[in-house]
Amino acid sequence: MSLGLFENRAKVNCFDGLIIQIEPTYLCRLKCVMCAHTYRQEVHGKIEPFMDFDLFVKIINQIVHFCKKYNVFVDTLQLFWYGEPFLHPKIVKLIEFAVCYNSKHRVFDKIRIDTEFSAATKPQIEHIFKICHYWNDQSLYFTFSLDALTPKTYNKIRRGGDFKRVMSNIHYLIRLKDKYMFASPIFNLQFIIHPLNYHETNDFIAYWKDILHSRRFHYPSDSISIKKLNTLKQDLTADELKARETHESTLRQLKFKPFSAEFGRLEIEGWDELFHHRVSLATERRPPCASLWKQPSFASNGDLTFCCKDEQLEFKLGNIKIQTLEEMWLGEYINKIRMQQLLGDFSWPTICSNCSNHPGLNITKDEIDNYIKRFEHSKIPLMGNRCKE
Ligand code: SF4
Repeated sequence: MSLGLFENRAKVNCFDGLIIQIEPTYLCRLKCVMCAHTYRQEVHGKIEPFMDFDLFVKIINQIVHFCKKYNVFVDTLQLFWYGEPFLHPKIVKLIEFAVCYNSKHRVFDKIRIDTEFSAATKPQIEHIFKICHYWNDQSLYFTFSLDALTPKTYNKIRRGGDFKRVMSNIHYLIRLKDKYMFASPIFNLQFIIHPLNYHETNDFIAYWKDILHSRRFHYPSDSISIKKLNTLKQDLTADELKARETHESTLRQLKFKPFSAEFGRLEIEGWDELFHHRVSLATERRPPCASLWKQPSFASNGDLTFCCKDEQLEFKLGNIKIQTLEEMWLGEYINKIRMQQLLGDFSWPTICSNCSNHPGLNITKDEIDNYIKRFEHSKIPLMGNRCKE
């Protein structure tokens, strides 16, 4: 699943468990129904579309410097954001650098790449395997954004995609795992339930479960995941509401339960809430959003923002070409937002006032206490960077 480097560590550092996004490119050839590329002319506006290799190295070095100085661990390095990573002409070089660096220094528990996978070539896939094997990697993790089992459904959801090529690439990767007898890269086959694909959910699970089960070698960390459409917006569109309803009704008709076996796992988002009533207790006060502490997102030009939904980079903290990560992530602008949310004020910036917090991230009371204490004792300098809005 991951290196498990930090499993036993007490989680009290407010920045621990960082999930850092570095975007190789914001470009994508597809127009998927649930994606910003479909309803925006240009995600991020006009910036450099491909991250320069030297800039990528600079960001990794800055992350390591920050983590050492503040004793922080990184849960996941995500090599994607709004674009398709395999459109970057040097994507394999970026992956190689991250994997090699991590094998030597053990900084990231997981290096994750989400991809629609049609832009990848067979030589690239083989090269990535060789890198993992050579460096004895256990951290590289691919999520294949599939959402369909048949070309007809795939073409409705992932418009402009090439189903045949995606399937051929995934099967090639599975064959390579057999050939190299090596668990990395780990992969996840992802299906987000939507009104256009829900009827294929059972068949999707059955097909991939069979494939995982019939492999020559079994790798328990490879997985199938059934997910719900996540959006951070408060006001859902009629389509998004329909997708949520479809998710619930589809789970009720599933022929499978989540499992964890020697040949792989099945994860079903929303299963516990629906069938075991494990709902999180509603709090009277909206808690502060963990994204402000835990998820720095770098766009392809080096701009840094605190939220993965900041498509237009309107709320950026600065740019790594001219400022350090430390200056930006501990700067006056973001600290002002953090302190404001701690006091229960979400009226500014507008991106947060129209949101109901990042659903996949948490910050504990101990971590917040840690943050406040560090400020009280001025252990973290309030770096001077500009305040926006
Ligand atoms: S509250 Fe919403 S917009 Fe603000 S940082 Fe969190 S997820 Fe992003």
